[in-house]
Amino acid sequence: MVNIVSTVADLFGQVQGWLFEAVVQPIVFHAGLGAFAEEAFEGTEWFLIGVCEIVLLFLLLRPLEALIPVHVITDRRARWNDFLYTVIHRLGAFSIAIFFLLNPLVDRVTAELHLHGIEPFNLENLWPGVTDIALVSFLLYLLVLDFFDYWYHRAEHQFNWWWGLHSLHHSQRNMNLWSDDRNHLLDDLLRDMYLAVIALAIGVEPGQYVLLVAASRVLQSLQHANVRVHFGALGERLLVSPRYHRLHHAIGIGHESSGAGSLGGHNFAVLFPVWDMVFRTARFESGFAQTGVRDQLPPPQGQARDYGKGFWRQQWLGLQRMVEYARKATS
Ligand SMILES: [Zn+2]
Ligand SMILES: [Zn+2]
Repeated sequence: MVNIVSTVADLFGQVQGWLFEAVVQPIVFHAGLGAFAEEAFEGTEWFLIGVCEIVLLFLLLRPLEALIPVHVITDRRARWNDFLYTVIHRLGAFSIAIFFLLNPLVDRVTAELHLHGIEPFNLENLWPGVTDIALVSFLLYLLVLDFFDYWYHRAEHQFNWWWGLHSLHHSQRNMNLWSDDRNHLLDDLLRDMYLAVIALAIGVEPGQYVLLVAASRVLQSLQHANVRVHFGALGERLLVSPRYHRLHHAIGIGHESSGAGSLGGHNFAVLFPVWDMVFRTARFESGFAQTGVRDQLPPPQGQARDYGKGFWRQQWLGLQRMVEYARKATS
């Protein structure tokens, strides 16, 4: 096992080195940005991790989607559009870039606090000998970040303007393995900044953050896949499954979205259902729900609201909803 891991890591390093020297470095120097060569080398690594993720997801989940789908894909263009979101988000490595941008800032604050005798908090030092074991600290960080992610997600459903943006994610009625990244870019930016600040505040190192983000993203893609998969009575309570998250996307039960504020909802947890169980928002059901937003439905159930088909149209309509819902809340 260790051998396989080190072989894969070696291979990864070689490909990264080759890609950097053959493609990235010439472009960087040609553009007169030689001073940023080190950052470009790191960027090459994130790009490659994104490529590996996408290939892995495609190889594992596409056959499963063909074999045990929840529904027949009626809108292939919508799925293709979700794939575009995934490429933009994962190859562009937004989440990680933001962490690396904020890192020097936090270093400066830490140094300043140090001068005043205040030492920064680090989760790994909580229980020496246990919490500093690599795997334990990794899981601990994942759990703590997930707690904050749960509350971010609750907020997206709680505040009208925020729901205006997040409803884009919920408007996919042909949910598939690429749908996790179908989000408003403004919402992505807010979430990435929020999580990066928390990660830095609890002592996550840059190398760890890259792995935490990659692990979390792969699991979230699985949750959105069009597959009849659940993890059994116990498993459903330990890790968010495709069935569990699909219920969050169900009209009426998972979220309510008349555009006039939050009316409750279930299964907000991002990775670990424990947060839904603790805060009483968990709902375990055996069916696989249809997904969408109520106001997308034709009258009389909805208003046949258009969420857009193409990327830019969806982004533009998201901004419009944000303003519209915020106004509705204050009027
Ligand atoms: Zn949601
Ligand atoms: Zn989702």
